[in-house]
Amino acid sequence: LLDARNLHKSYGDKTVLRGVDLSIRPGQVKAMLGPSGSGKSTTLRLINLLERADQGTIEIDGTQLGYVGGAGAKRPAPERILAKQRQSVGMVFQHFNLFPHLNAMRNVMSGLTTVRRISHREAQERAVMMLERVGLGAHVMKYPSELSGGQQQRVAIARALVMEPKLMLFDEPTSALDPELVGEVLRVMESLASEGMTMLVVTHETRFARRVADEVVLFDEGVIVEQQEPEGFFENPQSERTKEFLRHVH
Ligand code: ATP
Ligand code: MG
Repeated sequence: LLDARNLHKSYGDKTVLRGVDLSIRPGQVKAMLGPSGSGKSTTLRLINLLERADQGTIEIDGTQLGYVGGAGAKRPAPERILAKQRQSVGMVFQHFNLFPHLNAMRNVMSGLTTVRRISHREAQERAVMMLERVGLGAHVMKYPSELSGGQQQRVAIARALVMEPKLMLFDEPTSALDPELVGEVLRVMESLASEGMTMLVVTHETRFARRVADEVVLFDEGVIVEQQEPEGFFENPQSERTKEFLRHVH
């Protein structure tokens, strides 16, 4: 479903990604671990077209993101096309990023009525259904300030899901939450995974990675240093770097 190859990215003279290859099959869940500054969020931002890679390609279901035209005639896609390509990818951030002046339902509806131009009434129905799915049926009219962090994050998940993305990206979705609220968000993610959603999750929750992910990836200094199924990753890591990383998190 996702096929990213040889991604490179620098900011000024700071090189952040130095050749990242990452692919995900339909229904697969990948967890991305790695120290601060290793390039995890940058990779997600490239996949979500929030930024452009200096080098490398990203394909979703065979369509190269960020470009139009075939071999030989390839050119950067105009914003209109980028907006369309972005819809195939949903993203959930550490800090929820909800609109504070909109209630939960309106937050979830916003992309449907603006980007997808779905009627108000239909958007409202889909938003309420999605909020019910993340366990917030009783809170659809509440504003972000009236919701707990865990509830706000579930609104953010509903807002991404309602756009029917092919792939969901999560960037440390529970890192900003009080410990007692982490579980409710992880449970929603776990149920999404079990329903077959394709997911790429940057997380420090190694227990979640172990239980839910099909593969675990370790980033370090802008490259992937290890990638394997959870049991092997945690019990029998191949790279010295992974062993060292796991000593610090365990
Ligand atoms: P963390 O675990 O702290 O979230 P990360 O693995 O997500 O780390 P990135 O956010 O991808 O790391 O950042 C990698 C490096 O790129 C960092 O050193 C960061 O300072 C740098 N960086 C990221 N965005 C920019 C930017 N817009 N301009 C300049 N440097 C940036
Ligand atoms: Mg990050």
